[in-house]
Amino acid sequence: VVTNFKVPHRVPCPFCEIQAGRYAWHGPPAVIFDDELIYVFLNPAPMGGMPGHSLVVTKRHVETIFDASEEEALALGTAVVKTARALRTVLDPDGILVQQSNGVAAFQTVPHLHFHVIPKAQDSPFPPIEDPDIVPSPERVDLAVSLRMSWGSERA
Ligand SMILES: [Zn+2]
Repeated sequence: VVTNFKVPHRVPCPFCEIQAGRYAWHGPPAVIFDDELIYVFLNPAPMGGMPGHSLVVTKRHVETIFDASEEEALALGTAVVKTARALRTVLDPDGILVQQSNGVAAFQTVPHLHFHVIPKAQDSPFPPIEDPDIVPSPERVDLAVSLRMSWGSERA
């Protein structure tokens, strides 16, 4: 398929770097779930006015939703639902926002397929007006442990 789609150019890919064990200054990822196809971890930057901003990411370097395999698509969809449920159980937010961007025109900034699952506090503006404070690594790891324990055991 030939399209006008423009994917952001970013080398090295930050999500492939994390998987390769090369982390940014804010430390290793606080992993919530991990299998052969996908992984789920906490984004250090909360976007919804509270901690818990999670990223559901393919292990393979897949640029957009159009490049995912059937297996990856199933794994991603299931993980997004389970992540939202775990966040609700552990954090009891006022709402949960799921966001996913394909192409520069749709605000994609990392050229590696990912879903944001963002617990949202009622009165926090979205997107935040100022850059949010990074959640410190020990706090993020504690939260990831709680989410991991509740992940997949939730019911609708
Ligand atoms: Zn990548």
